[in-house]
Parts: sequence; C-alpha cells; structure tokens
Amino acid sequence: MASGKKKIVIVGAGLVGSLLGVLLGKRGYEVDLYERRSDDRNVEDDSGRSINLALSSRGIKALQDAGLYEKVKPLLIPMRGRMLHQADGDQQFSAYGQREHEVIYSVPRGGLNKLMVNEAVLAEPVHVIFDRKCVGVDFDNRTVSFENTIDGLVTEESFDIIIGADGAGSRVRRELIPAVDGEATSEFLEHDYKELEIPAAADGGYQIEKEALHIWPRGGFMLIALPNLDGSFTVTLFLKKKGDPSFESLDSSESVNAFFEAHFPTAIPLMPELGNDYANNPAGILGTVRCSPWHHTDCGLILGDASHAIVPFHGQGMNSGFEDCSELMRLLDEHDDDWSRVLPEFSRQRKPNADAIAEMAIENHTTMQKGVNDPKYHLKKEIGFELERRFPETYIPRYSLVMFHNVPYAEAFRRGVIQNEILNQLVDGVEEFDDVDFGLAEKLVAEKLG
Ligand SMILES: Cc1cc2nc3c(=O)[nH]c(=O)nc-3n(C[C@H](O)[C@H](O)[C@H](O)COP(=O)(O)OP(=O)(O)OC[C@H]3O[C@@H](n4cnc5c(N)ncnc54)[C@H](O)[C@@H]3O)c2cc1C
Repeated sequence: MASGKKKIVIVGAGLVGSLLGVLLGKRGYEVDLYERRSDDRNVEDDSGRSINLALSSRGIKALQDAGLYEKVKPLLIPMRGRMLHQADGDQQFSAYGQREHEVIYSVPRGGLNKLMVNEAVLAEPVHVIFDRKCVGVDFDNRTVSFENTIDGLVTEESFDIIIGADGAGSRVRRELIPAVDGEATSEFLEHDYKELEIPAAADGGYQIEKEALHIWPRGGFMLIALPNLDGSFTVTLFLKKKGDPSFESLDSSESVNAFFEAHFPTAIPLMPELGNDYANNPAGILGTVRCSPWHHTDCGLILGDASHAIVPFHGQGMNSGFEDCSELMRLLDEHDDDWSRVLPEFSRQRKPNADAIAEMAIENHTTMQKGVNDPKYHLKKEIGFELERRFPETYIPRYSLVMFHNVPYAEAFRRGVIQNEILNQLVDGVEEFDDVDFGLAEKLVAEKLG
C-alpha cells in the first residue's frame, strides 16, 4: 500500500468527493478534502423540502467497498417500478425487473451527503476543510489556490495529486482541459426542471403508492415523484424553457393552475402548496458535460459530474460517479498504486462508459415522457422479460444491465442495440404477447447474442 507516499487534494466534498475521500483514506493516503460550502452537518434543513435521488447497484457496490452501505440503508426506500398516471386518472404499475432484488432506492440527497462527509471527517488520514473555494490550479508547480469564502483570503496549497470532484461546473476541469490541450463541451437540454412536493397524508402515511417512482407522462413534458421517509414525495416537473407550454409561458398563478388542471388534474389534490412551490422554487438546468482526457500526466484527475455530468432520466449521475470511485480503487490495486499508469488508464477505460450512459440517459428522457404510453413499449418489455427467463445467460434487458448488473455501460449500450433489433423483429405485425414467435426469438438470440 502507498500510505504516506503521496499527498492527495480532492476539490469538492459532494457525493462523489466525500466517498472518494473515505476510500483513499482507507488505503492510507493523506487526503485534504476542500469544500466551498460551510459545514452543515449539524444544521437542520429548514427549507421544508427534501430532494431525493435513485440509488442502484453500481452506487451500492461503491458504498459497500467503502464500508458505508449498512449506514446508508436506513435512509433508503425501495422503488419496485414505475407507477404511470394517465390523464384520466388510470394508473398502471410497470416493474423495473422481474426478480425480488431488482429494485432501485430513493435516498435523500442531503442526508446521504451529510453522512458521507461525516465519514470523511472521521476517517483518520483525511482532513475536510470547509469554506474553501478552488480558484486556480497550477499543474506545473503542483499547487492549488483556495479562496476562504468567509474572509476572502486566497491561499496556496501543494499537492502530489489533485482530484476534481467539484461537480458539473468544475473549476478543476476548466484548469485541466486547457493545460493538456483537451476538449470539453456542455450541451443543455431544452427542458428545465422544478421541484414541487406531495406532502404526507394527515395520518403521516403516503398519499400514493410508497414503493414506486411515479410518472405523469404527457408527451413533451412530465411530472415525476420519488418517496421520502417522512411520507412526502419530491415531485419534479420537467418542462421546456421556452414555447407553449414552458416555464416562460407559465408566468402567473392562473396559467400554472390552468396548466395543471389541463394536464395533471389528479395530481392537484395531492399538492396543496403547488402555487407557492411553483412560485418560490427555482428552475434548474439540465445538461451533459463531455470532455477528454480526464487526467493530467500523473498528477491530476476529474471524476463524477466534473468530467461527465449527465441528464437525470436514467438515475445514474451519482451512481456512475460512485462507480468511478470503485473503478479507481480497482486500478490502484491492479497497478500497485502507480498513479502514472492508473490515471491514463482510468481516463481510457471510463470515458467510453460515460459517453454510453450519457446517451442512454438522453434516450430515457423520451421513453419516460412518451415511450411509456406506447403499447408497443409494454409489449417489448414483456417479451424482454420472457427472453430473460428463457435465456438468462444471454438476454438481459438493457434497463436491468444498467441498473442491476454492473457490466460496463458501453457494453450495456452495445447489447441494448442488438436486443432492440431482436424485439423490433418480434413485434413486427404482432399486437399480443401470445402471438409472439418464440421459435424465431430463440434463433435470433442465438444468432445475434450467442
Ligand atoms: C434533478 C436531478 C435529479 C437527479 N437524480 C439522480 C438520480 O436519481 N440518481 C443519480 O444517480 N443521480 C441523479 N442526479 C445526478 C446527481 O445529482 C449527480 O450526478 C451527483 O450529485 C454528482 O456528484 P458530484 O459529487 O460529482 O457533484 P456534486 O454533487 O455537484 O458535488 C460537487 C461538490 O463540489 C463543491 N464545489 C463545487 N465547486 C467548487 C470549488 N470551486 N471549490 C470547492 N468546492 C467546490 C460543491 O459545493 C459540491 O459540494 C440528479 C441530478 C439532478 C439535477
């Protein structure tokens, strides 16, 4: 183990930076973890809002690697599938997987981040320094500048290795990419999002099915809701920035009410604070960050949203960032902590996987908004589950490959394309599951996936 040999600076104690701090601390590295926010571990969130995320298999594996999963478990609510809410009030449940353990989990972002920052603070060779904003990196001299966000003073720290886990707007990325003559792009969706709330029922229970991710799919826009431990749901409205309807056009309480009456009438009685929430909560932007390379020689790396922020429709941003951490540890094992080999290898191996999940997340936006209302989508899903039962070694639905199996994203994407071709052939001219030609299915699976 390389204890004490290298001094590592991590910028950003968000979800990924704090997990990475714990993992590197466990390997015996001296880690300074700098965060621009103040230490809020003992501050109750008084906004009354809880924002949650979907945690799945890749994220769980990384938490297990860090020895944190048992501590995180009490924060989790299983979501077994999607509950689709049609405009006429009809509801359909669509399971995510077909095995008992094939569920994803709703977890509060704030609670999870506080837990992990706390673990990083407790980890012996890790020092967490709050109220420090990274304002520059000098890779030649291996120094980084931080502004003290309380008194404005700027200080310089030295490092052997600097890791940027400072999110989608990463300062470290903005320093690293020009320094290595790399490329970076940020591509924004035409949709923004706004968080709303379904509060707990009067008796403290859940107003709608607890163990599901709820979707009100309406073609060009949608509402989704994930459960919180206190009986409430965090609701997110995804809607275009401009046009009709859009966040720009819904600019008065009358227009917001008319929009919800027209498109989400069954959600209105669940959301008594809709008007206030809509008026007071900001709209956030959604985008994809792509850049290359992710490393600087043997001394710099960016990971998590800093190198590959994605849109949230596959629930994989945090999960892929957590997987970055597990993969970095695997490469350190493989290369005896030789960072000059680990960093380029990490860039080389992870980038195609990040590109693949970015693509699948964008595709899933269309699936969630409208695909789920297409009868062929449900038929294909049913056939996919049947093929998985018949050929469990060969055929695994793409959603399951991403959420429940830790095969590389690029491989899930590649197999997904082939599997979709098979499904398209099987549903061609077919309306009912009973009419599917499973003889042809067997032949196609053997030919294309065997
Ligand atoms: C609406 C929405 C829903 C989502 N849902 C899901 C989901 O269901 N499942 C999922 O897996 N992912 C989801 N995501 C994605 C997930 O939130 C991100 O992928 C994840 O937060 C990335 O973690 P990170 O640590 O890389 O970055 P961040 O969480 O952004 O953390 C970065 C940290 O760095 C700090 N920082 C920034 N700049 C500096 C600086 N200059 N100096 C010092 N510190 C700095 C920040 O204060 C912050 O603490 C969602 C995202 C959105 C927007």
